[in-house]
Amino acid sequence: MRVLYVEDEKFLAEAVKHNLEKQGFNVDLAFDGEDGLNSAVENIYDCVVLDVMLPKLSGIEILERMREKKVSTPVIMLSALSEVEDKVRGLDAGADDYLAKPFKTAELVARINALVRRPAKVQDRKITYLNLEFNIDEKELNGVSLTTKEADIIHELMKTPEKIVKKDYLLSKVWGGEAYGEDNYIEVYVSRLRKLLKSIRSEAKIMTVRGFGYKLVEE
Ligand code: CA
Repeated sequence: MRVLYVEDEKFLAEAVKHNLEKQGFNVDLAFDGEDGLNSAVENIYDCVVLDVMLPKLSGIEILERMREKKVSTPVIMLSALSEVEDKVRGLDAGADDYLAKPFKTAELVARINALVRRPAKVQDRKITYLNLEFNIDEKELNGVSLTTKEADIIHELMKTPEKIVKKDYLLSKVWGGEAYGEDNYIEVYVSRLRKLLKSIRSEAKIMTVRGFGYKLVEE
C-alpha cells in the first residue's frame, strides 16, 4: 500500500512515516505544498494524507488541483484546527475523510484502510431508482464520480429507497467505529449529495426524517 504524506513538520512526518512503515505501508513524504502536489499527480498512490497548513500551497489547494487534474486518489485531510469550518472546507474540496491533530497512528491506519478497501471487481454492479443509476464499483452516480463517503451514503439510501435509513446506522456503516457521534459529518455529505442530485436532474430527493434519519423518495 503506497501512501503520500504531505507535512511540513518534519519531525512529525518522519515519526508517522516510521510508524506506518512498521504497519507495512510504503510512505513517501513531501514537506511543502508544491512538492506534495507534484508527487500526488506524478505518482500512483493508494491514499494521500494532506496537512492543511503548509508552505507554498495549502492542503486544500493541493486537493483542489488534484481533483482538477482528475487524480481521484482518496485523500485524508489533517488539521490542527479541529474546527467544523475547517473540516467542512476540506470536505467541500472533495476530501474523503478528515482527521484532527494530534492523532494516533493506529487511527490514521484505520482511516486509510477504510478508504482503500475495495471489493474484488468482476463486473460493475449497479443499483437503480427512478432515473438514478449508481455504479457501486466505480462509485459513480449517473456517470458522476463520488467521493468514497458520498458513494457509501447514496449506496445505503438506494439499497432501500422510500424507507428510513437511520442516522446512527449510516454513521456506523459509513464511518465504522470512527464516528464519535459526529452527526455534522453526515449533514455535510447529505447537503453535497442534494446539490449533486439537483445538478443531474434527479427524480429522487433525499428527505430528512427529523429525529430519525433520511430517506430517498420521489421528488
Ligand atoms: Ca503544517
